[in-house]
Amino acid sequence: SNVNCPAVVKKLDKTVVNRIAAGEVIQRPANALKELLENSLDAKSTIINITVKNGGLKLLQIQDNGTGIRKEDLSIVCERFTTSKLVQFEDLNTIETFGFRGEALASITHVAHLTIVTKTATEPCAYKGLYEDGKLKEPVKPCAGNQGTQITVEDLFYNVATRRKSLRSPNEEHVKIADVVSKYAIHNPTVGFTLRKQNESNTDVKTNINSSHVENIKTVYGSNIAKAIEPVEAKDETLKFVMNGYMSNANYPMKKAIFILFINNRLVDSQALRKVLEQVYSLYLPKGMHSFLYLSLKIEPKNVDVNVHPTKHEVHFLHEDAIIDKIKNSIESKLAGCNTSRIFYTQT
Ligand code: ADP
Ligand code: MG
Repeated sequence: SNVNCPAVVKKLDKTVVNRIAAGEVIQRPANALKELLENSLDAKSTIINITVKNGGLKLLQIQDNGTGIRKEDLSIVCERFTTSKLVQFEDLNTIETFGFRGEALASITHVAHLTIVTKTATEPCAYKGLYEDGKLKEPVKPCAGNQGTQITVEDLFYNVATRRKSLRSPNEEHVKIADVVSKYAIHNPTVGFTLRKQNESNTDVKTNINSSHVENIKTVYGSNIAKAIEPVEAKDETLKFVMNGYMSNANYPMKKAIFILFINNRLVDSQALRKVLEQVYSLYLPKGMHSFLYLSLKIEPKNVDVNVHPTKHEVHFLHEDAIIDKIKNSIESKLAGCNTSRIFYTQT
């Protein structure tokens, strides 16, 4: 063939495009679950029960007692960019819910089989819809069901062999799922969470409705940590932030760091904050030992982009350095004051 001959540009098939886009939003079972959890919390649920099989790859099911989805919305709810949470672009400045792009359910339907069973308070029965590639596979059917929504995701990545191969073992995926559920449970103590493997009566995570942050930290991480933590807070009116949380003290060195950060109720990471706090603790802890931190930071929605992309775990926000500095100061003063007979460890 002629070496000067240019390659032909073709439009990708729509199902290929959708599958690629979906793969960017849903990277592994744990982040599919995170999206579903946030939907249940947005729907004001107080009980959220999760069942998984094979690390969520075979089955990922979440049952909540929230508002439910209106029957007439079931035909479009899994299409891309359908949402009940955002109408105008400006709403992004004030939005308080987790979701807004209407991408999670749609994305899942492109890489898995998705079933919704849902009942609102006003309907006499529940309705069931089976979805594929954003669309209902057959008309919605009435069925039995309690108020709320049950979403079942089966055979995740059945049509994306490369993604399936790149994932960890089902056990490791299960650990990641348990981690997400545990952290949301700690952050949402008024909601009762359970996580179990299918056909097992034992729960991997179980928290009570109307519990407390400390109670749930105890449930998840054990009573030793729960005894060693104390509340910490920081706020600043000009920087427009409030931070509440729990921190381990200087007398409780841990082998492994636990750093749980929620910004505007979304589980995120901030390397910058993590680094600064590690440094502070290093002055008070024996070398190589770590801390427990659960921090809930509320920032003006318009100053932070936590919602910009569903998988965007690492976040940045306006006045980041100044806010981090305030948080650092409040934690440091607690550490400095926690024990007058404390030992100083010199860094080598
Ligand atoms: P988003 O959360 O960004 O709106 P999703 O694709 O996650 O997009 O969900 C689409 C819509 O489906 C939501 O806006 C909401 O109206 C509805 N929905 C999804 N899950 C639930 C649920 N568990 N309870 C009630 N409504 C839900
Ligand atoms: Mg959502």
